[in-house]
Amino acid sequence: MTQQNGPDATPPSVTTQEEMLTEATRVPLWDPEYDDVLVCRQVRQETHDVKTFVFSGREPRDFRYYPGQFMTFELPIEGMVTRCYTISASAARPYRLEITVKRVPGGPASNWLHDNMIPGKEVNVSGPGGEFTTDATADEKFLFISAGSGITPMMSMTRTACDLSEPYDLHFVHAARTPSDMIFHDELLLLASQNSGLKLSFTCDTAAAHHRWTGFTGRLSLSMLSLMSPDFKDRKVFCCGPGRFMEGVRNMLGEAGFDMEKYYEESFDFGAETAGTLEEYASVAPEISDQTFRVSFSKTGHVVECSPGMTILSAAREAGLRPMSSCQRGICGTCKSKLISGDIDMQHNGGIRQREIDQGKILICCSTPLSDIEVEI
Ligand SMILES: Cc1cc2nc3c(=O)[nH]c(=O)nc-3n(C[C@H](O)[C@H](O)[C@H](O)COP(=O)(O)OP(=O)(O)OC[C@H]3O[C@@H](n4cnc5c(N)ncnc54)[C@H](O)[C@@H]3O)c2cc1C
Repeated sequence: MTQQNGPDATPPSVTTQEEMLTEATRVPLWDPEYDDVLVCRQVRQETHDVKTFVFSGREPRDFRYYPGQFMTFELPIEGMVTRCYTISASAARPYRLEITVKRVPGGPASNWLHDNMIPGKEVNVSGPGGEFTTDATADEKFLFISAGSGITPMMSMTRTACDLSEPYDLHFVHAARTPSDMIFHDELLLLASQNSGLKLSFTCDTAAAHHRWTGFTGRLSLSMLSLMSPDFKDRKVFCCGPGRFMEGVRNMLGEAGFDMEKYYEESFDFGAETAGTLEEYASVAPEISDQTFRVSFSKTGHVVECSPGMTILSAAREAGLRPMSSCQRGICGTCKSKLISGDIDMQHNGGIRQREIDQGKILICCSTPLSDIEVEI
């Protein structure tokens, strides 16, 4: 074998950082308009009833999303069940998506995911969507308050802020039933040990059986919060957890004279009222016609009069039908249906793709008739 030297020699194959970045940018962007299949790559057991599912595209995809946003999953349960799950991963690691799901007793979707979603399995999704996000790298002080699986949006914001290594001041308060229900506890401790801008406080309803528990014990109260975060009134608060927990936090902050303009929350229950999301969803008030139109449902044969301003979903309900729906704001896509004939005004918030609209699909929760119409329900 001869060794090539001198000017004619092939240069050694050294990958420069610039080349690596160029290579990285070659990964196509996840295009929510066309991309809709995720492949499960890994499953992690976080606590006794919480699992994290790691996904990527069939081919590598570059996911662009704001920490705190969610994906809508279409799960093959008795036909199809649609549920939203917040992306719990760092938005600064764009080639994979992670969701962290708590098993809800009797709940179809969470149990199906826990029992069936294994590496290699594919799932149909849409998104990302949602407005609950903050730029935690901004020159502001934040207080995250979460309970149970409500930790996921805050975890994504925290992981992203730490990955980006920008100066920030973030106090993360998390509440769980017991120490063994604490999701991401060890990872948060590690992040706090490496990032001086991150401070943590944990509280458990009960910790009796856990001798080594060093956090707070008891329900989050104003006196506990004042001990944990004496300057909480100077912070922007982001809150996520069960409805009653968030109601408690709202009341507590209100009592303390907290400026609720700086309070943002995310509900995992679309049926519940949410307070002060970062940017209000675009108004779903449709272009209201002053006419009444006839809505025919082709599968069931029902026909109803739809009065001015009434959505097709409301008309279907008036007819005694129970079409699938969830967010009622044109976000989640659960109520996607086929418009067979007629004109409608649809004010959606990202829950439907343009190509689906081109195929005659509509979201009935945010659509009102502009003529007599027929819908495939
Ligand atoms: C924007 C958004 C983001 C979400 N992100 C997450 C997430 O990151 N992780 C996650 O586990 N869930 C998340 N959820 C909730 C998720 O969509 C499902 O509602 C949940 O998995 C239960 O679905 P299910 O079909 O198993 O049970 P369902 O039949 O939908 O619910 C059964 C009962 O459990 C209650 N319930 C629903 N979710 C929870 C929960 N997480 N903890 C306690 N009780 C609950 C419901 O109010 C209902 O009474 C999110 C919901 C929304 C709207």
